[in-house]
Amino acid sequence: MKEKVINTRVSKELYEKISDKAKKYRTTTANLLRNILEDSIDIYTDASDLVDEKIKSWLSASEIIGFQEFTLRADCLCSNCKTNILAGDSAYNAINKGNSRIILCTSCQQKLS
Ligand SMILES: [Zn+2]
Repeated sequence: MKEKVINTRVSKELYEKISDKAKKYRTTTANLLRNILEDSIDIYTDASDLVDEKIKSWLSASEIIGFQEFTLRADCLCSNCKTNILAGDSAYNAINKGNSRIILCTSCQQKLS
């Protein structure tokens, strides 16, 4: 496999931070950056895939057929923005054409209405 080179400018502070970390882990700056990029891409891709499968259809307002406001009995996370919604606060069930539901905070409900 032929390897490619990525060039990018970084601030002096970031360069020194990366360089210090590389020294700390007794590796080269290039190896440290390669490992960070590979790990970050894997994590980003995994998280993105999970979001895509579970929520993607919900982000299309056209799939939502209605909202139902209710009061939370326990804290929970908004399915869209991951904001913590506290017990006692209002939240919304968003119901899609497939008749499944997710919980949305007030802000996300207003954005998707
Ligand atoms: Zn939200």
